[in-house]
Amino acid sequence: MSFDSLGLCDELLRAIAAKGYSTPTPIQTQAIPVIFEGCDLLAGAQTGTGKTAAFALPIVQMLGEEIPTEKRRLPRVLVLVPTRELAAQVSEQMQYFGRRLSLRSTKIYGGVNIRAQMERLHRGIDIVVATPGRLLDHMEKGTINLSRIEFLVLDEADRMLDLGFIDDILKVAEYLPSQRQNLLFSATYSQSIKQLADELLDQPRRIEVARRNIAADAVTQAVYPVERSRKREMLSHLIRTGRWTQVLVFARTRYGADKLTEELLFDGIKAAAIHSNKSQSIRTRTLAEFKRGELPVLVATDVAARGLDIQRLPHVVNYDLPQVAEDYVHRSGRTGRAGEEGVALSLVCPEEQSLLVAIEALLKHAIPRQTLAEFPKVELKGGGRAKANQALSRPANSRKAPTKSKKAATKPAKARVPKKTTSNQRKKSATERPGPKTGRRGSRS
Ligand code: AMP
Repeated sequence: MSFDSLGLCDELLRAIAAKGYSTPTPIQTQAIPVIFEGCDLLAGAQTGTGKTAAFALPIVQMLGEEIPTEKRRLPRVLVLVPTRELAAQVSEQMQYFGRRLSLRSTKIYGGVNIRAQMERLHRGIDIVVATPGRLLDHMEKGTINLSRIEFLVLDEADRMLDLGFIDDILKVAEYLPSQRQNLLFSATYSQSIKQLADELLDQPRRIEVARRNIAADAVTQAVYPVERSRKREMLSHLIRTGRWTQVLVFARTRYGADKLTEELLFDGIKAAAIHSNKSQSIRTRTLAEFKRGELPVLVATDVAARGLDIQRLPHVVNYDLPQVAEDYVHRSGRTGRAGEEGVALSLVCPEEQSLLVAIEALLKHAIPRQTLAEFPKVELKGGGRAKANQALSRPANSRKAPTKSKKAATKPAKARVPKKTTSNQRKKSATERPGPKTGRRGSRS
């Protein structure tokens, strides 16, 4: 399968070639024709599969076929994403492909001044990539008009639900035209995703692509049993003796990430933390340094790391085991891509025994235990039965909805509801609320 055979126009084919993509990824091969047909889509795909281009390319092409002549164009595409980082990444791809067809794209998220976003929206825009909370701020202020939306994309929908955005998403959807095409992308397919799809999608076509950490990927996993108080020392030791040059370390809390970073710096190891309490400019700068290979250790929380396009890493370390076993798979999936060797290590203290049991149950295999002569032996139950260098694998039927404890661990975003307006006010408001959903847009094929 080549990009040529997917019905993409010459401008986009040139843009794809300039990016260095030679063949479409499985999600692109499957999703692009469905989107061109005008169908709603429910796609099981996670970050790293090429899902962004899978929706960006056909949407941009269809939008570019008919560009309204007015100067202050109203947005026709709304992409909802869980995090600022993902908003930046998706928006960058939308901009890259969109500008070939004279389309304007912008990103909207919190933590930065709202005024610049208002000005861009006012000047006219075709594509908006937004986090739900800040989008509702704009809706409340009447600085965005969603009455012309033709495409709604929910990207990383499962993570948006984890973060408590469900009410915000449903509220936004109420303000969209009923005739629109809906695309939902999610790494997992839980009951809550099914409910969201039932609510927003109209007879969606379902696509599922293999998770990236399939058995073919060379991810070596190991558990290092260690006392909690000696984890930091062990991590520094592993980094130094292994001469690691690029490692993503997962910490459970923002405080924990900051504390570990300080300790690593104290040990003379260059490290920085990335989490939701850091300003956007610091997060962007830190990530760029890490990607360029100038920062050997990036300490992150799950929320901050999710959606980041930092793949093909040589090392991932679970400094704290995740509260939800599923996140272990997401974390480990950052390493060992496309035939390259990768190592996912977990420093596990006895207090985390139950989390480890849950992870091994999900993986359906034990993770080999490793010890270091420099550190006292710590007993953990189980383990050691798997072959060394066993690749991560996760059967499709082992998917699991996030547990309650995870929801409690990540503070849900407060659902903000646009202020109620009278019908007169609403006429003046830039946020028009069309009638109830009656059907989907017609076929574009
Ligand atoms: P995504 O899953 O959209 O976050 O994409 C992950 C990475 O894959 C990004 O760095 C993309 O630029 C890259 N990518 C997307 N499509 C292709 C392709 N067809 N060939 C090679 N790389 C791609």
